Amino acid sequence: MLNSEVFKESSKFMPGGVNSPVRAYKGLDIDPPIIKEGKGAYIYDVEGNKYLDFVCAWGPMILGHCNKETVEAIKNEAEKALAFGAPTYEELELAKYICETVDIDMIRMVNSGTEATMSAVRLARGYTGKDKIVKMIGCYHGHYDGFLVAAGSGVLTTGIPGSKGVPEDHIKNTLLAKYNDIENIRELFKAEGENIAAVILEPIAGNMGVIKANKEWLKEIRTLCDKYGAVLIFDEVMCGFRVSYKGARGLYDVEPDLVTYAKIIGGGLPCGAYGGKKEIMERLAPIGDVYQAGTMSGNPLVVAAGLATLTKLNNNKDIYEKLEFLGKKLEDGVNKIKEERDFPIVVNRCGSMITVFFTDKKEINTYEDVMSCNVDNFNKYFKHMLKKGIHLPPSQFETMFLSASHNEEDIDKYLDALKELEL
Ligand SMILES: *Cc1c(COP(=O)(O)O)cnc(C)c1O
Repeated sequence: MLNSEVFKESSKFMPGGVNSPVRAYKGLDIDPPIIKEGKGAYIYDVEGNKYLDFVCAWGPMILGHCNKETVEAIKNEAEKALAFGAPTYEELELAKYICETVDIDMIRMVNSGTEATMSAVRLARGYTGKDKIVKMIGCYHGHYDGFLVAAGSGVLTTGIPGSKGVPEDHIKNTLLAKYNDIENIRELFKAEGENIAAVILEPIAGNMGVIKANKEWLKEIRTLCDKYGAVLIFDEVMCGFRVSYKGARGLYDVEPDLVTYAKIIGGGLPCGAYGGKKEIMERLAPIGDVYQAGTMSGNPLVVAAGLATLTKLNNNKDIYEKLEFLGKKLEDGVNKIKEERDFPIVVNRCGSMITVFFTDKKEINTYEDVMSCNVDNFNKYFKHMLKKGIHLPPSQFETMFLSASHNEEDIDKYLDALKELEL
């Protein structure tokens, strides 16, 4: 089987040949490899090509592909439980484990990151009795109507400013703010504070490339939310259990009211969750007046995979030290090559989340900075690295990830390939 043949056939039956847009390599004028297998830090396509993988399923594969304990847990569970649509002991185990290890009162499982953020916003609106939400330009929170304004990730990559099919009415309550801009958020609250139900943000942005939140900015948002009675939501779908076990909440001393998870907590299976303060969470049906439900929510296989992954992460905190060590090695290596080759690039990194920005700027801290990037240069880099057997996210506006299965040799392979890049 050839990648190009499979992709051509896929395009007859799935729009663009894919089930999620960025996978199509649009704008790169090459077909994506069709992936068949993954083991540790490596993946293999249907032609038998081997790639060193820095996509890691867009984050979930923090332990590497087909981690032994996770696969075992799924197999064992599948022998006795696929789905019941009834309470299980296993879902209690996971809920309790997450709440106790990351310090939140209550949690509800859903089936994707989109569902988690969408539900958290509904809950915040129900709880506050207000309609407006604040979203940061360049942040991505999934494909719910109200978030498809100035969104990051695939929305940025495809160049669609928002999305057709989203009625004006559904976004009229979405206020846009600038990431890392204190004055901007102050002005917004001054004008609209009384109507704001929630502020949602990625505390480590990953969907416009990696940008860390400025601590003072986060603190100011916390203060403003308290002053005006708005719910602060950290969208930790990507950075949760990634930048530290406790996610971004482990790095900043700013506490949100609600937090959303997905990606890592499902160990590679479809998942999502939102949680936080009891007082807010108890507004959910069946005890409260905010409705949210899901046939597959808390599915036994997902719960088993999630628990196996999280316990391994929590019991082996040296994993985060290893990820930091490898991340730093990669960052330092790229910066050295940047000097030697005089490449116009900036590396941003938070632990094992890394973006190499192709830009003449000295630093990348805002959405405007990100927009200065030279996408043609990124595309050259991407195609060069793929030829060298390095699988990267196919967009300038995404994050590359490391896993516990990567080693120093793998980082050297990446750096050796980068050295040979011709811009
Ligand atoms: C991936 C992502 C989402 C969406 O999650 P899905 O499972 O793809 O719906 C939401 N927020 C952030 C920060 C993400 O990275």
